[in-house]
Amino acid sequence: MAHKIECNFCGSDRCEERKIEYLYSHKGKYLLVPNTPVEICLNCGMIYYDAAVLKEIEHHFFAIQHKTEKPDRYIEMPEKAYA
Ligand SMILES: [Zn+2]
Repeated sequence: MAHKIECNFCGSDRCEERKIEYLYSHKGKYLLVPNTPVEICLNCGMIYYDAAVLKEIEHHFFAIQHKTEKPDRYIEMPEKAYA
């Protein structure tokens, strides 16, 4: 992999790219985003999100909220689901 990151938590450089289900939340609304690429520390399990990926999720979230975009692979979560 081109970019190597060092874990801020434990200092290990054994990080691996994984795809996870990311739960985005904003003011009580949730959006579950499958196949979100993250870096995970193999030593301590700390998860690191790419800023660009988060920005894209945020963009989709607000587009869906404003009905300018239909959720496709994004799933709208009912408010109480994770409470
Ligand atoms: Zn770590």
